[in-house]
Amino acid sequence: MIVYALRCSCGHEFDQWFENMADYDAKKASGLACPSCGGAEVSKAIMAPRVGKAPSVPAPMPACNPAGCGNAMCPMSQMA
Ligand SMILES: [Zn+2]
Repeated sequence: MIVYALRCSCGHEFDQWFENMADYDAKKASGLACPSCGGAEVSKAIMAPRVGKAPSVPAPMPACNPAGCGNAMCPMSQMA
């Protein structure tokens, strides 16, 4: 499933789910309509599509000198 931010010619924006890009093309060809005004002039808004759930970005590890950074809590000092 993929959600697109769509915008009608009046400027209404709304999200709609599609099976995939081909499903979007098929639904657009058969006639997408704005839920606010019913306008059929609907196109994708300038927005990156969200696919499912966004992956969480792991926090970067603190930069430590392998010889030891002087921090007792430093994970590098645990490996010595
Ligand atoms: Zn509209």
